[in-house]
Amino acid sequence: MSSPRILVVGGGPAGLSAAWDLAEAGANVVLVEEEGFLGGTPKKLHYSLIAPDLKPVQEVLDPLVRRVEQSGVEVMLNSEVASFKGSGDGFHVEVRRKGGSLESHVFDSVIAATGFAHWDPHKKYEYGYGVYPDVLDFKDFERMLSEDNLRRPSNGETPKRIAWLLCVGSRDKQVGKFYCCRMGCVVSIKQAMEVRQKHPEIDTYVYYMDIRTYGFWEDKVYWRSMEEFNVKFVRGRIGSINRGEDGRLVAMAEDTILQRPTEVPFDMLVLATGMEASRGTVEFAKLAGLELEEHGFIKPLQSDSLPVHTTVEGIFVAGTATGPKAIPDSVSEGSAAAMKALNFARRKAVAERQQTR
Ligand code: SF4
Repeated sequence: MSSPRILVVGGGPAGLSAAWDLAEAGANVVLVEEEGFLGGTPKKLHYSLIAPDLKPVQEVLDPLVRRVEQSGVEVMLNSEVASFKGSGDGFHVEVRRKGGSLESHVFDSVIAATGFAHWDPHKKYEYGYGVYPDVLDFKDFERMLSEDNLRRPSNGETPKRIAWLLCVGSRDKQVGKFYCCRMGCVVSIKQAMEVRQKHPEIDTYVYYMDIRTYGFWEDKVYWRSMEEFNVKFVRGRIGSINRGEDGRLVAMAEDTILQRPTEVPFDMLVLATGMEASRGTVEFAKLAGLELEEHGFIKPLQSDSLPVHTTVEGIFVAGTATGPKAIPDSVSEGSAAAMKALNFARRKAVAERQQTR
């Protein structure tokens, strides 16, 4: 019996995990990645340390990438799915290489691991992103941390006081994003801890509605940030940001514990921007005829009992393509989708053999 041929779309944590497990199980795997490297959004946007253990992101990603590179997976970088058609004998897929050349393949099953995008904070104009250089979002600040270059973009000085504002582009009916981004609290607190670890002289403040640090993150990140790193928390929402006469940012907020308005100067503000479906996720779903759920992510067939099945038989899904998720959860889903895709391909092969007898 020939080995099943399986397509994995996306080379982030979920896609890498799926591709490696499939190759280990003897499948012929093609991994299509639009960027010129493997590692997904954490690599592309130069994430720094990963919560809860404050491990450098490359310590998490590099082994995943190495395993795939050494396992016989055919990796197609700078490539995208150009056309997609399912029929009785499999999925007919054209892959476009950067430069325009097309390659045709037929696969027995497919895994969509097409990832997420950070929400664009320009849409919350009251926070001054794109207007005040010292207002940053997650991806800007992660890069700054990973390059160990913590300076105010406005004047190059080391900041004395930094604030984080949670739930930007999440849990916000005004911008049409109703859901919780799941990662914003832990990433903000992790960033504040990282700042305090490297620069104990910088004061850090997190503005929150409520704190959602699930499971082990509660003690490893939330409580630890206060007890070991003296990160300060302010329950309240920043309504707007202005620039003071001294060039610092002034956060106009309401402290909902003290029940009074506050005006506090900061040198930098980091917006905890939420997660939304990536362009690649939406485009692949359209090509493959996958249904999207109400927030724009790929809809699992049954989110409670069949989370890696999609609404199209033979196509499976893993990672943040179905919604906000942490790296370990994406890796687990990649493995789960690999098993389902392999089973589907093997059942299909058995059925085809029986038909030809
Ligand atoms: S994880 Fe935290 S920052 Fe993100 S939406 Fe939920 S409560 Fe807000």
